[in-house]
Amino acid sequence: MKIEKDRVVRFHYSVAEAGGEPVETSREREPLAILFGHGNIIPGLEKAMDGHEAGDTFKADVTAADAYGERRDGMSQRVPKKHFGDQKIAPGMQVVLNTSFGPRAVTIEKVGMSVVDVDLNHPMAGKDLQFDIEIVEVREASTEEVEHGHVHGEGGHQH
Ligand code: ZN
Repeated sequence: MKIEKDRVVRFHYSVAEAGGEPVETSREREPLAILFGHGNIIPGLEKAMDGHEAGDTFKADVTAADAYGERRDGMSQRVPKKHFGDQKIAPGMQVVLNTSFGPRAVTIEKVGMSVVDVDLNHPMAGKDLQFDIEIVEVREASTEEVEHGHVHGEGGHQH
């Protein structure tokens, strides 16, 4: 069965910055499960997977624009230090901050006495990425999964 819209895809991946060592992999855990064609993953990876089937392994080069977007200027924000609780923070560190839009990965720029400057760009923004993909399973999605826009059961939402 080929990958196409409204099918569920389970896959393993490793991701690296172009020319670098892998920074993240799913190999030590369960494969990721996504509902294909619903924006569950970055657009460049969806494009690269289209038409593949279970058992396929391939590499995919995804440019920043098709991954987490280009870095944007003016994304710095000054945040009261107390928002970080007891976390030790230093410039360059990536932390998850609870914002009014929900949890968000930010990069610490500068730590002051009572305030912290953070960069709200996604940590992977502006980076071209290389994926190693192994398609584990492709199946039809249930009507309910298509309505919800995500996968239920193994590797997906439990609710
Ligand atoms: Zn659901």
